[in-house]
This record gives sequence, structure tokens and C-alpha cells, in this order.
Amino acid sequence: MKRIIIFSIALVGLLSLSFVPGEAKLRKDVLPEPQTTQNVIILVIDGPRMTETFGDPTGQYIPHLNEDLKPQGVLFTNFKNNGVTTTNSGHTAITTGTYQRVKNDGTELPKYPSIFQQYLKQSKKSKDKAWIVASKGKLNILANAKKKGWFNNYMPSEYCGPQGNGVDYVADIFTWEKVMDVLNNERPNLMLINLLEVDTRGHNNDWENYLKAITKTDNYAYELWNYLQSDEHYMGNTTLIITNDHGRHLDGHRTGFKEHGDGCSGCRDIYMLALGPDFYQDKIINEEYEQLDISILVSELLRFDMSTSRGRRIEGLFREE
Ligand SMILES: [Zn+2]
Ligand SMILES: [Zn+2]
Repeated sequence: MKRIIIFSIALVGLLSLSFVPGEAKLRKDVLPEPQTTQNVIILVIDGPRMTETFGDPTGQYIPHLNEDLKPQGVLFTNFKNNGVTTTNSGHTAITTGTYQRVKNDGTELPKYPSIFQQYLKQSKKSKDKAWIVASKGKLNILANAKKKGWFNNYMPSEYCGPQGNGVDYVADIFTWEKVMDVLNNERPNLMLINLLEVDTRGHNNDWENYLKAITKTDNYAYELWNYLQSDEHYMGNTTLIITNDHGRHLDGHRTGFKEHGDGCSGCRDIYMLALGPDFYQDKIINEEYEQLDISILVSELLRFDMSTSRGRRIEGLFREE
């Protein structure tokens, strides 16, 4: 009780200070924000298998993620796609917090609103503050939802596929140009990036280039984190979440690394590496979490309600706990 009274007096003191004319900024400076994060970037690397990423103890194909980024963040080693293990369903699980069998050709919208729509609606920010930039054109479905009240409402900006036309695929190098352009010029608070090469090399049954593509995306992840750490707008207030939409079949199961889409552990097992000013560093969480939980995490970081998500809160990630 005594603590509450003292706290109240302190609070009244702070609030009254803040009402001094011309001192409007003071309150913001004195009262601590619950979190430091103002921006969240989600990098989805499409379709690597855990056995070639963090499931490989040598980390040989992901040197930056393993040696440079992992020590700066929290790695979830038991992270799952527990829904349909295809591109559009996997991304939909991440952005809406619900598992739904979405057609994988880009002709079906998610049913429920996404983190982008909920964020834009509740923050009343303009659509340039939430962005989707994807190498796969069909991922433009992530900008919209079927549900009444959400269809064609509160949609984020998107640039998916060649010239952002919403169909076909484009090489990651061009997607990356757009990513940097958007970050530098639009300054979004919330952004999802999809890089496709790992998945397409896998489907080509091209083991060597599949591995090379994993290492290329490792470079992009490193470049992105370094940018966010050094850019004057994003440094110190930006969370980066690196994850996958799905894995691929285990060796000896069906077509092996060439394809994905069923419930084998190769398809379900993915990772999440979370880096940001509010999180622990150099920590590994082995408890099981899943794609749905990302939407809850983002809503917590950017302070909006995501009760349309079926995800759960991730424990042991925030430094304050
Ligand atoms: Zn695929
Ligand atoms: Zn499988």
C-alpha cells in the first residue's frame, strides 16, 4: 500500500510537471515506455529445412545467423508450422495468427485480419507505415482479408513479384532493392519481407544451389540487421524477427528436400530468431512455440490488440521479465 501511495505521488508529480506550458515533451521523456520497440521487421526466408540451418550444429550454411546474429538475439529451436506447410498458408499463419488452408496460387485471401490491418486500424497510421515486400507475387494476398469489415479495409502497402504486379516471381536481388528503398524512404513501422530463392532451388531439385541460396539469405539477414543497427531512424528501436514459412520433407521421405507440404517433421520444423532492444541476447529457448505466436508478439511490441489471433504469448523473451 505504501508503495502504491508513493508511486501515486510520484506519478502526480510527473504528470503535473508535464502540464507546465511549453514542457509538453517532458512527460514522454520522464515516464518510461513499456517497450523500446517502435518498429518491427519480419524477414521470412522461404522454405529452408532446419537440417540445413540451425539444426546443423556447424551452422555451415548460415555463418552470419549462427555466429553474428544468434549471440545478439533469442533463438527458438523448437518453432513450428503446425498448419498447412505451404507458402501462402504459412505466411497467413504468421500474419493473421490463424491456421487456414489458403489456396497456394494467390487466388484466395486469408479469412481473418492481419497484423498489418489491425495495426493500421488501431494506430490510425497511413498505409505507408505498414509494408509487404515479397519475391512471390502471390503473397499480395497477405494485404487483405475476407472477413466482413476487413475486406479492402486498412490494407498495408505491398510490392509483390516483378514490378510489384502481384503475380509471378522475381529474383531476391530485385526484391532487396525494393526493401531498402521502402526502408529508406517510407520508414514503415511494420514490414514483412519474403525471399524465395531457397524454396525455388529446392523445387528445382538443385541441392548445390539450394545450399548456396540459404547462404545468400544469410547474407541478406546480416545486411538487414546491420542496416537497422546503423540507420538513424531505426537504430535502437527496431525488432527484427527472422523465420520461415515452412521447411521441406526429410531425406528419405517422399521427394526429400525437393518438396514440402505435409506434416512430416522436416516440413513443420522451422526456426525463429528474434533480435531487438527489448529482448534478451544470446539466449536459446527450446520450449515449443509456433507461427501463430508471432502475431501476438508483434501486437505486444507495437501495442495493439490482436485478439483475432489464436496465438499465445511468448514467455522468456523480454528482458524485463
Ligand atoms: Zn515451395
Ligand atoms: Zn514433409
